[in-house]
Amino acid sequence: MECSACADRPPLCPRCRDRRFQWHAGQARVMGMAWGERLRRVMPGQPWPVYETSERMQRITQKKVRALAGGDAALLELLARACADAARDMYERAAAPPQSVSFRVPRKPRA
Ligand SMILES: [Zn+2]
Repeated sequence: MECSACADRPPLCPRCRDRRFQWHAGQARVMGMAWGERLRRVMPGQPWPVYETSERMQRITQKKVRALAGGDAALLELLARACADAARDMYERAAAPPQSVSFRVPRKPRA
């Protein structure tokens, strides 16, 4: 059924925007995680730019999630932040010292 407030067209009403964000946030995060992991490989250990103050971060993540936002500017912003947060988490998590994310199981002594 078509939404009576926004007719499912941008600018979306807050209810539709929320719903679409729930639909697409997972995919935005997956894209962010893949990106964060790739950046860790090519340029590890850099300070991660803050989304709010980095035009570059906004531009890159908004480009990644643009197709999910369906032309709604506020939804694009929400999805881009979700993407950027997931990328940062992946980048910083992976940059932690190896011993904090994995450990060896000690060998059993031979009898
Ligand atoms: Zn609506």
